[in-house]
Amino acid sequence: MGSTGNKARTVIVAGGGIGGLAACIGFSRAGYQVVVLEKAQEFGEIGAGIQLAPNAFPPMKILGIAERALANAVYIDRLVMMDAVSGEQIAEIPLGDAFKQHFRNPYVVIHRADLHSPLLEACRADPKVTLLAGHEVMGFEQIGDEVEVTTANGASFRGCALLGADGVRSRIREDIVGDGGPKISGHVAYRAVLPIEEMPEQLRWNAAALWAGPKCHFVHYPLRGRKLFNIVATFHSDQYTTELHNEPGDREELLARFEHLPPLPRSVLEKSDGWRRWVLGDRDPVENWSRGNVTLLGDAAHVTYQYFAQGAVMALEDSVCLMREVMQADGDLPAAFLRYQEQRITRTARIVLSSRAIGEYFYHPAGVERLVRNQMLGSKTPEDFFRGLDWIYGYGRDS
Ligand SMILES: Cc1cc2nc3c(=O)[nH]c(=O)nc-3n(C[C@H](O)[C@H](O)[C@H](O)COP(=O)(O)OP(=O)(O)OC[C@H]3O[C@@H](n4cnc5c(N)ncnc54)[C@H](O)[C@@H]3O)c2cc1C
Repeated sequence: MGSTGNKARTVIVAGGGIGGLAACIGFSRAGYQVVVLEKAQEFGEIGAGIQLAPNAFPPMKILGIAERALANAVYIDRLVMMDAVSGEQIAEIPLGDAFKQHFRNPYVVIHRADLHSPLLEACRADPKVTLLAGHEVMGFEQIGDEVEVTTANGASFRGCALLGADGVRSRIREDIVGDGGPKISGHVAYRAVLPIEEMPEQLRWNAAALWAGPKCHFVHYPLRGRKLFNIVATFHSDQYTTELHNEPGDREELLARFEHLPPLPRSVLEKSDGWRRWVLGDRDPVENWSRGNVTLLGDAAHVTYQYFAQGAVMALEDSVCLMREVMQADGDLPAAFLRYQEQRITRTARIVLSSRAIGEYFYHPAGVERLVRNQMLGSKTPEDFFRGLDWIYGYGRDS
């Protein structure tokens, strides 16, 4: 059996991604020892960018990682939506002073490693935290007040609670929710990071730009001192039967899906040979993701399409909510887990369902639906957008 010290005060966390490590900081602050079991041979994040909306800032500050995470952030000027059929701008949201005053925080883009590293460093520096890579969680058993977790390498660990932060294919979810593997959404995402010289000069905008086309869209934004550009291109496809994560991409497949685009935006996708492919998994929101001393967090609890760029931000919000409940629980973790999920389920489900809806009605429509989209979004003022996004971006601004 792996060593977990004082089992009555040890929480086991399955998964050392952004969600698992953020939660780990919270458990430690609440006085628990934490053992993080990570499947990969090393703790780390993929080499791509991430958008951090204003609601990422309160949790980053509370977790004590904001300064380090933001050291290399790019403070973009606007979010812009382009019509990939006509090449014209549909709408834009300026991210200047009025935006920052409204949401009390900015909107930034950063490299994923710049968010994951400070979380990892905080955990590494914490004597209450044990980080074990190369430990794939296979299952768990609740025994009295304890939980025993087994890993693929034959080890087992006992603690007073288990957190499943093991992502979209969560093993812990299989047992708690029992809704099988993720559904194949029919949406495929390709990612690449380009040096700025490979980005067409006319499109080197200090913006998160989204080009919306029929059954496809792509996003680009600058990274790390604007020396790099992050590209995410998404399209519909019914040719995949399993969810895929960070596989080598097929440039020809990608270009074929965007061949109806005008030359300028298409030229962005022609540049890279280094595409990585995700076949996106989807799950319906659920009304319960806890059982006694076991609960879920992040993608394991509420995986979402990336269309609102909120998956990692929700994981950060989850971790702060969980930390607060655990701190007030006086050792009653099952009660804390129920209070945590009660506060998180409706919000996260709303983001999951709204992301599906904007994918269908705003990002991927064709024909007359495209015209309706253009008219609806094109007639909005910045203040209209601020009000419409308040429920997402304004969350936690008073904390
Ligand atoms: C194309 C794309 C773009 C995105 N853009 C954004 C964005 O701009 N902004 C944003 O906020 N979100 C974005 N997201 C969502 C975001 O990436 C995820 O929501 C976030 O990474 C979830 O973090 P997590 O820790 O819950 O899960 P993960 O990052 O999936 O971490 C899970 C961890 O658990 C480990 N693991 C898995 N199974 C096991 C096991 N059995 N045992 C032990 N360890 C295990 C994995 O190796 C991994 O380290 C995007 C997602 C995609 C696909």
